Amino acid sequence: MSISQVRESAGSRRATARGTGITRQPRIAIIGAGFSGLGLGIRLKRAGLTDFTIFEKADNVGGTWRDNRYPGLSCDIPSRYYAWSFAPNPDWSMTFSPGSEIQGYIEKVAAKERLSDFVEYHTPVTAARWDETEWEVWSNDRSLGRFDFVISAVGFLHYPNHPDIKGLDTFAGKVVHTAEWDSTATWVGKRVGVIGNGSTGTQVVAAITPEVEELVHFMRTPQWMVPMDKKPYRRSWKLAQRFVPGLSKRTFKFYEEAQDAFGEGFTEPGPGQDAFVQMPRDFLEAAVPDPDLRAKLTPDYPPGCRRLIVSSEYYQMIQRPNAHLVRDGIVEVVPEGVVTADGTLHELDLLIVATGYDANAFIRRLGLVGRDGATVEELWKDGYRTYESVALDGFPNFFMLGGPHSPFGHFSFVLSGEHQSRYAVRWIEAWARGEYENAAPSTAAVDRFTAQQRVKIKETTWGADCVSWYQDVSGTPSLYPWSARTFRESMSKRVVSDFDVQR
Ligand code: NAP
Repeated sequence: MSISQVRESAGSRRATARGTGITRQPRIAIIGAGFSGLGLGIRLKRAGLTDFTIFEKADNVGGTWRDNRYPGLSCDIPSRYYAWSFAPNPDWSMTFSPGSEIQGYIEKVAAKERLSDFVEYHTPVTAARWDETEWEVWSNDRSLGRFDFVISAVGFLHYPNHPDIKGLDTFAGKVVHTAEWDSTATWVGKRVGVIGNGSTGTQVVAAITPEVEELVHFMRTPQWMVPMDKKPYRRSWKLAQRFVPGLSKRTFKFYEEAQDAFGEGFTEPGPGQDAFVQMPRDFLEAAVPDPDLRAKLTPDYPPGCRRLIVSSEYYQMIQRPNAHLVRDGIVEVVPEGVVTADGTLHELDLLIVATGYDANAFIRRLGLVGRDGATVEELWKDGYRTYESVALDGFPNFFMLGGPHSPFGHFSFVLSGEHQSRYAVRWIEAWARGEYENAAPSTAAVDRFTAQQRVKIKETTWGADCVSWYQDVSGTPSLYPWSARTFRESMSKRVVSDFDVQR
């Protein structure tokens, strides 16, 4: 069925909404077919709200799990908690699953939920304008139509950060960015350089070191690490997950509680946090006996200020005889390899660039124009301002999944998207019941939330003295600073008095 047929049949689909009080079908534009956008689509369908389109720039669902294909790609959040709560997967192969398996899971659920009818591929959203009653959405010169709601689900690590390193384009071998992996790149038996040691660079080094002739890891700023309890699931456990009544729910709950406790290590000051931040120090001490190497791997800022790296393998790998940790800064790249500040030329065959993303892009590139010409750039010129991470003043009938102030430092991104989706759907259902025409949070409510966020973040580990990609132009980490429990609670309420509502 084509998208227009789906829309035309919305009237007949209304029958599914009987008993919910729905009297009209809102037209909804969702931007992005990753975990958040697809999850929202599934929720809308289940609520009987079927006049929605998911605009996707690429040719498949999956978002970051579709785009990233570098060696070692996996998720450092436990698989049973990095999945939609309504679609448990008994077949995860490991406690922490590889990226390709996560992409397979997303595709499988999207197919089962028949979401392909609702996704328009090859359609990057480049502008969306509020015209006092509705949104008009554009992909370059093409109008994609008029909508009652626009919801961004574009994620926050999306646009690769290409480092400005002198001579990078002169390298004689292949240069490949992890976020744009070149499937023809080969590393087995080669001399390989990896630039960057965030979660990505660390995963790459851990995966390829045993297979390369020589591994040179260029590390500008060391990062704190914690071990990962990664192990394969036995067949009997997978069968139990599938067939034992209630087991899958209980396992999810177990991980939820464990992740909540882990998250509180970041957000709640006190003895628990003190013990939590000691963990990475103890891990490094135990894993790296050589004091010189340990000194090179020791950050000069407190643990938890940046995102913790979760890896049990990296410290082992960097101690292998074929691995070299280089802390001298990169001066330039020449055809033969990388020259560092001590004058050494590191001769290489392949250069892997793991330098992350433009983490401050968020929704900036969507060309949103709200009420009275409001723009996101103007709204955020002095730092992020949001209402509870999901809405913006001056942008009626607009919601963000995974925007600034979301709990992406201590929560499963899949589940934070789910809670934010539930919140948006609650507002959309009220519209469908005819309770209002448009609504945006008041400036007072946004100011209040933002001020509270800026005070509380100072109590978290992210508020310590360091430079991290979490920070906005004001230096404030753009994270939800309260516990995961508080986040779930806030997403379960719809405080209408915080909104300017046109009826
Ligand atoms: P990242 O954390 O931003 O790390 C980028 C690395 O590149 C840093 O080590 C940085 O050094 C270095 N770098 C950047 N520009 C450089 C330059 N010009 N010269 C030398 N070094 C340079 O990026 P990431 O590792 O891709 O991770 C980003 C985020 O993605 C993570 O924090 C996480 O949220 C997510 N992620 C998650 C998983 C998962 O398993 N869930 C896996 C991968 C990624 P400095 O520190 O000195 O700037």
